[in-house]
Amino acid sequence: MGGGPSEEQKLILLLDDDVQFRALLATVLSARGFRVLEASSGEVATSLLDEESPELLIVDGLLPDVSGADWIESVRKRDSDTTIVFLSAYWRDLETFERLTEELKVSMVAYKPIQPLAFAETIVELLDSASKPADSIRPSPSNPPPQPTNSLRARMARLRDEYTEELPHKLDELEAWIKDARQRPENTMRASSSAHRLRGTAGVYGFKLVGTLAGQIEDLLSEYAASPLRVRRNLWDEVTRALEDARLASRLQEDPGRGGASHDDALSAGTILLVDDDAEARRAGTALLQKQLLDVCVASSGLEALNKASSVKLAAAIIEVNLKDMDGFDLCRQLRQLPGKENLPLLLISTDQSVETRVAATQVGASLFIEKPIREDLLALAVQQVVEESSGRRRRVLILEDDLDFANHAELLLQSNEIETRKITTPAELPNALEEFRPDLLLLDNDLPVASGLDICKALRMSLEWQTLPILMITARSDDSTRIEAFRLGANDFISKPVLEEEFNARVELQLMHARMLQDRAERDPLSGLMLRRPFLAALSQRLSEAHRQQGELALAIIDIDHFKHVNDGFGHLHGDAVIAGLGQLLRQRFRNEDLRCRWGGEEFVVVLPGQKAELLEGALVRVLNEFSAMRFDAEDGQTFSVTASAGVASYPDDGFSTQALIRRADARMYEAKRDGRNRVVGPTTWAMEEAPTGRFGKLHSV
Ligand code: GH3
Ligand code: MG
Ligand code: MG
Repeated sequence: MGGGPSEEQKLILLLDDDVQFRALLATVLSARGFRVLEASSGEVATSLLDEESPELLIVDGLLPDVSGADWIESVRKRDSDTTIVFLSAYWRDLETFERLTEELKVSMVAYKPIQPLAFAETIVELLDSASKPADSIRPSPSNPPPQPTNSLRARMARLRDEYTEELPHKLDELEAWIKDARQRPENTMRASSSAHRLRGTAGVYGFKLVGTLAGQIEDLLSEYAASPLRVRRNLWDEVTRALEDARLASRLQEDPGRGGASHDDALSAGTILLVDDDAEARRAGTALLQKQLLDVCVASSGLEALNKASSVKLAAAIIEVNLKDMDGFDLCRQLRQLPGKENLPLLLISTDQSVETRVAATQVGASLFIEKPIREDLLALAVQQVVEESSGRRRRVLILEDDLDFANHAELLLQSNEIETRKITTPAELPNALEEFRPDLLLLDNDLPVASGLDICKALRMSLEWQTLPILMITARSDDSTRIEAFRLGANDFISKPVLEEEFNARVELQLMHARMLQDRAERDPLSGLMLRRPFLAALSQRLSEAHRQQGELALAIIDIDHFKHVNDGFGHLHGDAVIAGLGQLLRQRFRNEDLRCRWGGEEFVVVLPGQKAELLEGALVRVLNEFSAMRFDAEDGQTFSVTASAGVASYPDDGFSTQALIRRADARMYEAKRDGRNRVVGPTTWAMEEAPTGRFGKLHSV
């Protein structure tokens, strides 16, 4: 086992036409001590072979100028020994497989998407065994492979970010090629190689579903290329649908904190960022976190933390409040302003546990305080809690299937994708199971005793509550009429037995993703990005009963923008909308993930802090409203204006037990704030504003 870089670097030629795929693989292989030559076409690779003698060739199956297999054949004519690894984007291609392994003596066929780190280890072993006598081939590895270093992870994460940014353009390009192919069938090749590159590369960057869908598109395009004149009627519909789904998948994969199989483990392993300028504290903290099997990355200053945070995928950050170069609270604020880090869970470490400090912590979005010196058990609990909060509710799939072998298999597949499951075997159990388990997706067998899956589908679509529940139908028959009937009765998708694992996973992921998008759209106000009133009220009543059960507390506030009519009248409705969006963004960034924030209506907002006293919320709001009043909004002609808001706070249990009582009390206090001159917070303990209000309501500033 050749752990670590060897004294003389082994040379690898990597032949693949996708530059981003090469970049990732080359990074990982270089970190493992290899020197990597890259080639994007057969021609380039051949000329490289004239100058260098690599020990290993990694060859992609489809190249712009030649097929991978044909290129390997040309290599074998001049050299019969070099170890060759073949990369294939297809799951099954038996014929090529036989030609490769038997005729062309390829040592290994690897299927894309590969796992870069695991692949690199395989390459190390392969080269080790190739350099040993034949009878000692495949020695059992004596050491575990080395853990990737943080800097390798950071480089991989950077590549992933680049890929993520470019992915929408790649999909645009694919769409353009597809349009072109529809007009001019002779150009189909360009569309299908664009799809092929996505098929092979999206997965290594954590967009497995995009890769799968691109694969579907490639297959459909091949079908079209084979007989462009006698194309199936719905072929283009399927292409369009797959492309739309790929776009959805490319966006949703980006969500921070959503675990699941679609992420490449190596790339998405969330790291905990530990920021402390005391070296001993960093060392101790790292040791504690690693004991919890968490990946840790440390920073000794605020600036270093910001740098690292923008290149590493973070699960949470733990920050010492008193940093030398930057206020810990400022750092929190700036971290949350980085793209995709809006909901980053934050923990603060401080010896200071005063109310002022805790107010500041809530306001920058810190979920927890840990006292220094850190107690191991508390840290473990805190990290667990915070990371779980942010990853949200687990997705749930209900399986109605009388074939237990199949049900068990499906359950296993789903659970390995971090999906919660429940299985039932008869339709009679369905109503109860739906009610209790509240699934996000129903996996429905069509061939059940008593009622058929189709009947159940029809019944669900007629019930008000389950009308929109996604249904994935499973059947042993795959004839067109069953299929059409299933769609007609409202199944969302269809899969036939025997089920191919990858296809199963992909279809389930897609349905869950659609459902989540729809739900998000229904629950979130697009202008402010905050919850809408109805889902908010549901969440609030749940938090209230929790508070009641645990004899805890809860603080609620209503915020109303001051003289908003003047803003609309003076600057126009669109500029008014920008103000609402601005306050929405501030409220999103300035509280913890577990705090509820809602656009109550018009220019009114409600914020709820479960488990907290009114005092804390008052303090947090004073700061937020100060920040709000300091924001400058653009008017016409290069002018800017600023706006203020007023808030009223109420608390459970002192001001009432019910939602109505709390809202009424907060509303009354909000009007008190208006009467007292606006731009202020009124609550049970009424804090003074940090800066005296200056009466600049809706005032115009010239630049
Ligand atoms: P006060 O300080 O007493 O709250 O004065 P105000 O002018 O804000 O009074 P009020 O709350 O009654 O007025 C709210 C205005 O907000 C009325 C409505 O036209 C406007 N509004 C409501 N929703 C929207 C919106 O989505 N966009 C914009 N631009 N304006 C909205
Ligand atoms: Mg109002
Ligand atoms: Mg108002």
